[in-house]
Amino acid sequence: MDVQVRSGDSIWYYSQLFNVPLKFIIDSNPGVNPSQLQIGQTIRIPAYRSEPYTIEAGDTFWKIASDRRIAMDSLALLNQTVNPQQLPIGAMIQIPSRVTERIVNGNQNYDSTVLQFDLDVLLQLYPFVRTETIGNSVMGKDLIELQIGKGTKVVHWNGSFHANEWITTAVIMQFLNDYLLALTNKETIRGLDVNPYYDQVTLSIVPMVDPDGVDLVVDGPPAGPFGDLALEINKGNTDFSGWKANIRGVDLNNQYPANWEIEQERKPKEPSPRDFPGYEPLTEPEAIAMAELAQARQFNKMLAFHTQGEVIYWGYEGLEPPESLVIVNEFERVSGYQPIKNVYSFAGYKDWFIQVYRKPGFTVELGRGVNPLPFSQFDEIYQETIGIFLASLYM
Ligand SMILES: [Zn+2]
Repeated sequence: MDVQVRSGDSIWYYSQLFNVPLKFIIDSNPGVNPSQLQIGQTIRIPAYRSEPYTIEAGDTFWKIASDRRIAMDSLALLNQTVNPQQLPIGAMIQIPSRVTERIVNGNQNYDSTVLQFDLDVLLQLYPFVRTETIGNSVMGKDLIELQIGKGTKVVHWNGSFHANEWITTAVIMQFLNDYLLALTNKETIRGLDVNPYYDQVTLSIVPMVDPDGVDLVVDGPPAGPFGDLALEINKGNTDFSGWKANIRGVDLNNQYPANWEIEQERKPKEPSPRDFPGYEPLTEPEAIAMAELAQARQFNKMLAFHTQGEVIYWGYEGLEPPESLVIVNEFERVSGYQPIKNVYSFAGYKDWFIQVYRKPGFTVELGRGVNPLPFSQFDEIYQETIGIFLASLYM
């Protein structure tokens, strides 16, 4: 919601007026000097919507405000051209409305269009969330990173490295929405006060690493050469539910230079719905963007969300730091998921991340069943994952 500064207003006053922590208003207005507001300047108030209302007989600002338990001056602020002494019946005014409900519904076919829609709404409501385009998919779709918080500890989550595991994007986005609601409404999640995490942690999220692949699984092959190629790789089968790769048949989580040659040796030698590691490491734009992001951000901790198995892989060739074990034990405690240190698998993002940075990296396998996991599991998976999300922030 936008407001226009009046004489005597301050950011601190808006924080009181709307009962929103000061830091979220300041961070929602990055170009603004909070100590030098200009009259008429636009200030964004996070976690609020401005809703139109038509004046009825007997209305006064006092009545409208007290009915909704909002400050009367917030009405004056939003309706500066309206004379509260002369409210004409039928006139339209704006009423500030606090956002207390989720926008994101993860329990649906969550393709890149749904993601973009939800991102647009969340960024409008919570302008202190920062976004960056870290690259483009093979088909040119933006690869989006979100950043929340101001801490020196950088925690990274990603979803949908594998196309038919797109439920991971839905889980991440719904939790992001709950985190933003808790921050701005001063609520807890599972009894935890999350407010300190905003100051302690910079949370980096890439909700959908493989948007082309996700759209292929959810919506079917696109018209044009990329759809034709995917159909050819899929041997003419129009059922893409088993597809894990990007749109040209490279498994993005087999693309990293961490014993990549072992995967090359034993995996498919040409583009395939799953497991083809590419002709060389890091040939695919999605994989490259994620490698560059790790280098740019220097994550302190990395969680890659996959499905399925209810297990958490946390080691790589003994290169993981000792704290990885402490963290994964906490993940186990809060989710019931089983930690697995080593597995005969290489060239994944987690493997490469641990090898290069020697920081805690995890592959979290949500849920149990056959990918893509059915909606009926969404709420259960979401509940299991909340604890892992939170632990990744406080551990
Ligand atoms: Zn996977």
